[in-house]
Parts: sequence; C-alpha cells; structure tokens
Amino acid sequence: METTTQTLKANIRSALNNDRLQAAVLKATNHSLAKRAEVVAELPNWEAMRSEAALRRDRTLTRLDDTLLELEKNATAKGIQVHWVADGEEANQIIGQICREAVSGSETTSTKGEVVKPLIAKSKSMTTEEIGLTPFLESLGFEVVETDLGEYIVQIAGQAPSHITAPALHLSRQDVGRIFVEKLGVEYREDPVELINIARGILRQKFLSAQVGITGCNFAVAETGTPLIVENEGNGRLVSAIPRVQIAVMGIEKVVATLDDLMLLLELLPRSATGQRITGSVIFFNRPSSSRESDGPRELHLVILDNGRTKALADPKLRAVLRCIRCGACLNACPIYRTTGGHAYGWTYPGPIGAVLAPVFLGLEKAKDLPFASTLCGRCSEICPVKIDLHHMLLHLRQEIVAACPQPILEKVMWQTWETVMDHPALNQALAAIPRFLLHEVLRSHWSPKLPLWGRDRSSPNLAKESFAQMFKREFGEHK
Ligand code: SF4
Repeated sequence: METTTQTLKANIRSALNNDRLQAAVLKATNHSLAKRAEVVAELPNWEAMRSEAALRRDRTLTRLDDTLLELEKNATAKGIQVHWVADGEEANQIIGQICREAVSGSETTSTKGEVVKPLIAKSKSMTTEEIGLTPFLESLGFEVVETDLGEYIVQIAGQAPSHITAPALHLSRQDVGRIFVEKLGVEYREDPVELINIARGILRQKFLSAQVGITGCNFAVAETGTPLIVENEGNGRLVSAIPRVQIAVMGIEKVVATLDDLMLLLELLPRSATGQRITGSVIFFNRPSSSRESDGPRELHLVILDNGRTKALADPKLRAVLRCIRCGACLNACPIYRTTGGHAYGWTYPGPIGAVLAPVFLGLEKAKDLPFASTLCGRCSEICPVKIDLHHMLLHLRQEIVAACPQPILEKVMWQTWETVMDHPALNQALAAIPRFLLHEVLRSHWSPKLPLWGRDRSSPNLAKESFAQMFKREFGEHK
C-alpha cells in the first residue's frame, strides 16, 4: 500500500461524491455510538475501568519481552506450536508452509475429475489483512474463504474491509443483495435474515471441507499460555473446531499478563466495539485435541508477529498505541471516518488508529499523508477504552513527517512567514488588517460563492469590524 497525497485526495473526493456510501457509513456509525453509549452508561465506574485498563496495558508493555516468553513457555507446554515472525513476509512463508504440510497427500481431484483446491477457512482477523495473507495463500493454490459474514461479503465483492470490527459497514443491505445476485447467482433479496441464510448455506459446506482453519487472536493470556478470540456469529467456533490444523495469528501487543487483566478487557472491548455487554462467544484455544476427542484441531499453531510494533514500543511518544484492543470506537467517533468511510484511507487500518499505525508499520515516507487526515478534534482519544491519546500522537507524527519528508517549497515559505509574523506582535497587528479586509470585503461578498472548492459548500465567517487587539486598545488603552 502506498497512500500518496494524490491517492488520498482522490479517495476522499470519490467518497464525498458517493451519497450511498456516506448514508451507509453514517447510519452504521451512529447506530454503534448509540448502542455503546447505552451500555457504557450502565457502568458508573466506566472511567475508572478505562484508567485501570490503560495502566495494566502499560504495565504489560514495559515488560513485553518477558510476558511474551511466558506465553510461549506455557503455550508450548500444552502442545501449541509457537512461531516468532519479524514481518508479514516471514509470517506468510511460515503459514504457507504449515498449510502445505497440512494438505499434503490429500485428494486434488474430485470424483468428476475436476481439480479441487485445498480449502482454508478463515475467521475475521485484521492482522492477517495487515500481512496480505489471503492473496499470498491463493497464490500458492489454496482456496481461502472468509467465514465472518461481513468479511465474506467484502471478499466476494472483491473489496477490502472498511472497518476494524464491521468489515462491510460501508454497504447497505440493498448493496449486499446486489452483490449476492452478481457473485452468487441468487435471486435479489434485501431482507437481512434471507441474506444471512444464503451465506450460511454456502459457508456451512466450506466449514465441513476446510483442511486448515486460520483465526486471529484478540488476546493471548501469558500465565495460562492461551490465545483466544471473541466473536458473535459462531464462525470462529467452527473454524477452530472442524479443520485438523488451526493457525492463530497475533501481533505481539495482544498478549495480556493474567486472566484478571483479560477479564477487564473483556468488559471494555464488546461495549466499545459493538455496544454489547459481552460477545456471543469467547473461544479459548487451550491446546490441540487428542486422538480421543472428536473435534478440535490436532495441530494448533500460534504465530506471533512484530511487523513494526517494536518500533512503536521503542518510541515513548507512540508506545501507548500498543494498548489498542482494536475495538473500532475511534473510527465511529471520528468526523473524517464518518464522512469518508474506511476505504479512503487506503490501507488495512482506517480511522485515527490507522493514521497512527500506518507510519509506524509502513514507515514515515510511505504513510506520510495519513496523520494529516484528521481534524485533531480529540473525539478518538475521548472514546478510546484504553485511553490512547490518539490525536496528540497524530500531532507528534505530523512533526516527525515535516522534519523527515521534503515539503513543498511554497508550504515551507508560508509557514516560515507565519512564524516570523507571529514572533513580532507589531508586524502581526499591522498585517492583520490585510486578511481582515480580504475576508470581509472581498471574499465574503464577492468571491466566496464562486470559489470552486471553498465556496461551493461553505460561507465565509462574518467577521467583526475590529480585531480583539483593537477592541482591547479602545477599551483599556495600550497594553503595557
Ligand atoms: S485506538 Fe482505542 S478506540 Fe481505537 S480501536 Fe484501538 S482501542 Fe479502540
């Protein structure tokens, strides 16, 4: 992914011209915010819980290496195979190898002589989106099926998820009905229950024939060596119960030290993400199944991914971003996300959290535009259940980008002029009359409605005749 100024602007323009998209995103985010507000209001100690969660996440981050080693030791002792990977490429290679071994020797042709691709069932995982796992496995000749309904819809539509927890949030039920007609060849339906039943009928067959199940990992408890996922649809249960081999993929920050820490986060996550008190299932991957058990994977792998996270860990101003529990609440609250939806951001994690993670994971040069896709209003920081100060991180990243990346000459000259004027009050006051005159007399009355971008959607402010400094001087005399 490379979100350049041009692609970002083009994406935003296209989103702003898409009324259907805007209506769907606004409806869904409003709904999520309202549900969240209801269940948060039930807890008088919500703010104390947020502070406690932030404290515990930070405590784990300060001894992340030891906590991860404890996770590895306890997981390995139960038969879980742990793989450490530095980046997406290494993760894909290892997962590809596990999948190849899992299907070796299995039938590759059907009874009708058709070539049958070995099947991998996936449950929702943004970490696997981050590393491009699905296209990689497809390039190796596997059929990879997303089994979360939203993920399945965007997969068959050939799109990327547009939200961390609600991948198809940008689509209305009418859009989904049309996608099903085009991609599945079924009759048009727009009733959500009928649409779910169509998908369920197809996915059930896939679950039964999948040879490998791939899941994400919402958390992994170090003291018990247990990765786990939270989910609502039951697909995570099937992906982790039916295939003979299961692979769970986690970023290093998903480790929690104790079950006690986990319990607190399990209170905060569903309330913030989907406005639920608790999700439909919390599935613990405790160990591989034995030959005496009829379900559960015989082989259980845990892939622990860095992919830029230790860079954030080493930066005191960004470290707290690793507290993130991927609830998506900051997206729902962000005025930019609520207007453009997630695809405009151009990479896996949209919204404020994505604009912070992108420069960390991809490097400043590749993601230099995203931290500027924010109003810095602070709604993201206010809503975050683990109190990540996202808007100040965005400000910090902007400073780093300006220092590290070449800026347009005109912009440089503008800001230097601004700095000089602001450093000299007399000059500042003398020059202030010019923009006041321009704004008041010229822009507002004559030009504003004709300016192509500015004037079309806005009216210029109605300025007072005098500046504050002039009023102060008139009322109180010269400031000594
Ligand atoms: S930054 Fe906070 S609000 Fe945003 S996804 Fe992460 S935990 Fe949720």
